[in-house]
Amino acid sequence: MKGEQRFTDPVCGMRLLPYEVAETVAYHGKVYHFCSALCRNLFEGAPQDYLGRRRAEKEG
Ligand SMILES: [Zn+2]
Repeated sequence: MKGEQRFTDPVCGMRLLPYEVAETVAYHGKVYHFCSALCRNLFEGAPQDYLGRRRAEKEG
C-alpha cells in the first residue's frame, strides 16, 4: 500500500477519497465512483462517452 486510495470520477475527473464518494455505479463488471448524483446521472446517460470514447462497439 502506498499513499491513500483514490477513485477517479470518470465524468468530471475529480479524484475522490473513499469518504468523498457520493455515488457508485456498476457497469460492465466494473464499479465507478462519482462525486455526486449529477455526475452519476450523466454517466448513466452515456457511459461510453466517459469510458475511452469507443464508438464502434455495438452491444445491442
Ligand atoms: Zn463528478
